[in-house]
Amino acid sequence: MHVLRNKLILWYSLVSVLCILTINIFLNIYLDKAFRKYAIEQREQQIEKIIHQVNDLYDEETGQYDPTGLNIIGNAALQNGIIIHVQTRARGLNWDIRTHNPLECQNVIQHKKAIMKQESYNIQGRYEERRIDLTNDGIIVGILTVGYYGPYSFNKSEVQLLKTLNCIILIFGLLFLAVSVLIGTLIARHITEPVNKAIAAVNRIAEKEYGIQTNLNNNTLETANLIQAINHMSLALKKEEQQKRQITADVAHELRTPLCNLQSHIEAMIDGIWEPSKTRLESCHTEILRLNKIVDQLRELHLIENDEDYLNKEEFEFSFLCQEIFNEFSLKAKEKEISLQMKMPKDSTIFADRNRIKQCMVNLISNGVWYTPEHGAVEVSLIKKAEETVITVADTGPGIAKEELQNIFERFYRTDKSRNQRTGGMGLGLSITKAIIEAHGGSISVRSQLGKGTEFVITLKGC
Ligand code: ADP
Repeated sequence: MHVLRNKLILWYSLVSVLCILTINIFLNIYLDKAFRKYAIEQREQQIEKIIHQVNDLYDEETGQYDPTGLNIIGNAALQNGIIIHVQTRARGLNWDIRTHNPLECQNVIQHKKAIMKQESYNIQGRYEERRIDLTNDGIIVGILTVGYYGPYSFNKSEVQLLKTLNCIILIFGLLFLAVSVLIGTLIARHITEPVNKAIAAVNRIAEKEYGIQTNLNNNTLETANLIQAINHMSLALKKEEQQKRQITADVAHELRTPLCNLQSHIEAMIDGIWEPSKTRLESCHTEILRLNKIVDQLRELHLIENDEDYLNKEEFEFSFLCQEIFNEFSLKAKEKEISLQMKMPKDSTIFADRNRIKQCMVNLISNGVWYTPEHGAVEVSLIKKAEETVITVADTGPGIAKEELQNIFERFYRTDKSRNQRTGGMGLGLSITKAIIEAHGGSISVRSQLGKGTEFVITLKGC
């Protein structure tokens, strides 16, 4: 397994080396070409100059070239690596630098050969000669033969310049490589730092350290999103863990009271302290029923939240369902002189699980009837919108305090703890209602004002 940081540095360096090599090769090719052209041009200019100078030495009267002048021109040309030989047409003069300065001629050519062999591996150089006609007033009066190391040759200063340029290119290349590796290291660190932080955070979460938050000073969108997602997951897991613990504690708490009652009653009867009368046995039976109800409701909640095929959707008239529930509650409502009202359009069909929606409405209407004082009202309304159906259950009860509102959908939450004993309300009704509505892909919210009443709003999408 390779470390991401090292891998990134390696790849970055490799790309840099490739770039440097390519630039170097192109620069070398270009320089080589430019220098070759320059050397040839220089040589041609020198030959032109020699022709001119030799022509100037021609004496029309004698038809000869001045040998002293030729000696000077010949030695000067030799310094530039050019060997000259001058011959008059009438063959009266046959001047050759090789006869006047043979050793130097040999040295110059050898030296050029050595330099060029060292500098240019791919060029097969050799001594070349060229014959040029010398003219006077348009008439050929002599022949100049120039010899040189071809196809081109460099002198000492040109070789030195070439070496310096190559050295500069190499130094710049190395400098560029060092800077590339440095930048590569910084980039690698910039990328790997959040990844390492994310790994550390995920490992801690895996060790059940829920809720931890990772800080990151990184302005890269993807890495910031990654850390944000991990932080979000960590908080969600913490919340879930807390809920799990809370549920366990709540279930234990809710079961303890009826179980303790049962235990004490039965023990008292076994010990003979109590006679097993019908009333006492009925009291035990009530506690057993209550325990059963809690277990059933918890099981139902589990099913709604976890079974995808739990719903059995159909089209039905919501106003009929509402009327059905009103009939069931009519006696209770009459006792408290509470009016049950319905506000619905002519067509109130919805597509949902009728039994489950009935369960929700029973929970909400029974709460409304229970909490609303005498002469109050409970109203159910339905509004159909383009994309959603909104069902409202409003009452004129005492309302719910602001600080309690966020908790009423929690399992076993009751604002009035004594309701448990009096009515059997276990604080599970609204949890079940919320779970059913969410299983339909909808949502439920509550609005309440102390002293004025409470309103539950169900929004069903595409139903
Ligand atoms: P319960 O079975 O105890 O009624 P619910 O889950 O139905 O449990 O309700 C939870 C709590 O929310 C109730 O104990 C009550 O305090 C509050 N509540 C629910 N509906 C109303 C309402 N219409 N008016 C006032 N309080 C309400």
